[in-house]
Amino acid sequence: MDDVDPRRLIPRTNDLLALPAVHQARSRLNERVIRDTVRQVQERARRGELAPSDVEPALVGALTARSATTLRPVLNATGVIVHTNLGRAPLSARAVEALVAASGYVDVELDLADGTRSRRGASARAALLAACPAAEDALVVNNGAAALVLATTALAAGREVVVSRGELVEIGAGFRLPDLIASTGAVLREVGTTNRTHLRDYADAVGPETGCVLKVHPSNFRVDGFTSAVGLGELSALAAGHGIPLVADLGSGLLAPDPHLPHEPDAATALGDGADVVIASGDKLLGGPQAGLLLGRREIIERLARHPLARAVRADKLALAALEATVAGDPPPVVRSLHADVGEVRRRTDTLARALGVPVVPHDGRVGGGGAPGVPLPGWALQLPEGIAALLRTGEPAVLPRVHDGSCLVDLRCVPEDDDHRILAAVRQALAALDGAGAGRAG
Ligand SMILES: *Cc1c(COP(=O)(O)O)cnc(C)c1O
Repeated sequence: MDDVDPRRLIPRTNDLLALPAVHQARSRLNERVIRDTVRQVQERARRGELAPSDVEPALVGALTARSATTLRPVLNATGVIVHTNLGRAPLSARAVEALVAASGYVDVELDLADGTRSRRGASARAALLAACPAAEDALVVNNGAAALVLATTALAAGREVVVSRGELVEIGAGFRLPDLIASTGAVLREVGTTNRTHLRDYADAVGPETGCVLKVHPSNFRVDGFTSAVGLGELSALAAGHGIPLVADLGSGLLAPDPHLPHEPDAATALGDGADVVIASGDKLLGGPQAGLLLGRREIIERLARHPLARAVRADKLALAALEATVAGDPPPVVRSLHADVGEVRRRTDTLARALGVPVVPHDGRVGGGGAPGVPLPGWALQLPEGIAALLRTGEPAVLPRVHDGSCLVDLRCVPEDDDHRILAAVRQALAALDGAGAGRAG
């Protein structure tokens, strides 16, 4: 019977759905996902990519590998600490515990003592105020961009936002602060030039139409040379003289100065210098979940909290829980990576290099995520052939290295030490695969 179409031998859907492995998968996956997976495997057989006899094992393999989320954990071997494409800050163990605890019913907006509704996120707010006593009040929203939109909408919709031309930045993926601000109905009143802005430029622009003065930390680039900018102290005297709020968008999320990053602004200093509101992200240098922090004067924060838009950008309970635990807990991974002991990184890198027989080279890490541009974080990396990078990215575990100058570099700064053996295994496997491919080509 050689003329039987092999496609007729493809196992039927009902038979596949009755397999014990499929029954087991039902404890993790819903029926639609299981049926989709069955259909996909049958399709591969129909296209001739799979022999009919391989359909069953392929299905079992696909269902075993499939979890309810297909986001894949990645070991960050780039040396870039706040990597936006990798979800920015990895959470601390404390923050993970907090968000797991908050994943059920939780008193995020309830006073358990008297059973009445309470202010949402009161405990995250209290933790922020304890960590940044210069702030009278705090509000947490969805992210930094939402915080900026809320502040400019509530303070300046239909009026003007006075801002220096040198600070109209693009924050990434094509999002530009001027467009964001314009979308709120506020009019941008640009002052100064790209490289130099003086106090008199602000003074000339401020008037009855001004809703707020905005100072943005141009966090992801640096202008060197003939430059000048007006500090928050001077701006605050001007704004206060006109009774106009001064908003400082810091970007990074440092609550207090960090000696490792002397040029990075922080909330305590900005408020001390006279900013009425500071804006920062939760998942950059603070090392927490995605969130936008608004810290500052009580009456202004209350005004923002009462604005209808605040409801549209409110933080979810998981972010509030993780944020509180980040602010109150032991240093999160971002802070540990930033302050990593270079000698220790060297020792770990040497150990892997010896095991693999590959060289170690000096390598500068970066803060990333639009923080501390141009500030190198000296360290070390394994130097591997460039061709290995794709194998590392698609291996198990997935490892993201840095490809630079014809090499694939593996920097351990952002890798938890407990994962060194996983990096070793992943590199070993990828090197073997690369050798195999080379031998295949040569043969
Ligand atoms: C990162 C950044 C933002 C945007 O914050 P998100 O939390 O990413 O929304 C806004 N302003 C500045 C200066 C930034 O660096």
